[in-house]
Amino acid sequence: MTRNFDQYTKKRLSRYYELARQEAERLRDRKVNSIYQTYPEIKELENKKIQAGIVQIRNKISGFVEQNTFELAEIEQELTKVLNLYNIPLDYMEPDYSCKICHDRGWIGDSYCSCVDRVLIEINQQTNLYLPAPDQTFANFDLNVFSNQKNPVFFQGQLSPQEAMRGLRTIAKRYVNNFHDNPENLYLFGTTGTGKTFLMSCIANELSNKGVNLVFIRAVKLFELMAQRRTLLNSFSPDPEERDLVNRKFDLINKTELLCIDDIGLEAKGLLNTYSDLIVLLDDRYNANLPVIMTGNLKPSELAEDYDERIQSRITGNYQLLMFEGPDLRTQTAKGKMEQSAD
Ligand SMILES: [Zn+2]
Repeated sequence: MTRNFDQYTKKRLSRYYELARQEAERLRDRKVNSIYQTYPEIKELENKKIQAGIVQIRNKISGFVEQNTFELAEIEQELTKVLNLYNIPLDYMEPDYSCKICHDRGWIGDSYCSCVDRVLIEINQQTNLYLPAPDQTFANFDLNVFSNQKNPVFFQGQLSPQEAMRGLRTIAKRYVNNFHDNPENLYLFGTTGTGKTFLMSCIANELSNKGVNLVFIRAVKLFELMAQRRTLLNSFSPDPEERDLVNRKFDLINKTELLCIDDIGLEAKGLLNTYSDLIVLLDDRYNANLPVIMTGNLKPSELAEDYDERIQSRITGNYQLLMFEGPDLRTQTAKGKMEQSAD
């Protein structure tokens, strides 16, 4: 299949496959570890096999007679016996790639694998579903909209909102640069109109341009989706099409490389079980080493009281906390506009 994709699509494809392989290998590691824990004799035999292999190589190099080939074969026989005994496949160390043809590389020889079509649909679906506003970028970041006056109400008068924002922008750029080596969780909190969503969008747009696959979703939408999913789960005869669609969306959110949740607030209060669903989502992503960025107007200390203690403990434990303070830019801009139109 000779195909030509634009640079951006190529980047996204290669990132997609890289992550798919990593995920398959991560699951393999977990599986192998649990096998070793349950059957220590298997681990012992694998270790012996490695040792015997090393001795064999050494002997070959130094021109020794190969008497230990026999030992290696014996160990392998024993290993096969034990694996069969416990019904463990002999290739248990092979990752379970989702494409058996290309092993999640997207390529066979010098042409694209047929799984590329499925992946493209997935990637495009994501692009169409949830992305940040495209104009909220570092290039469009104007520090001058933030007040340069120190005010005792903000940052105890130690920093002007502009100085604080300059620091936060540096942190955000560093986050982007370190994303692949050290993907961290962030919680951006502060009152309305202080630039939290804007900064999160800058990060998301920059990473998206680098081919990172991400989901940017408003908390209200996420909670709606989780409630819908739960209703379908509890329904005796759910509409299969609706169920598939909701599951697909949720799967996307669960597995995307970076999840950005905008404006975590109190909107889900009263919706049954949504907090538990959010906690499961956050835990799944944490265990899979998939980062989350959230914005919200609640201080970490207010999260337990107004939200949920379990969410608070996760955020304060696993998230870098970024504080935003300053006058509400939205009312300021609206005021400015009104004054202008009054002229
Ligand atoms: Zn393939």
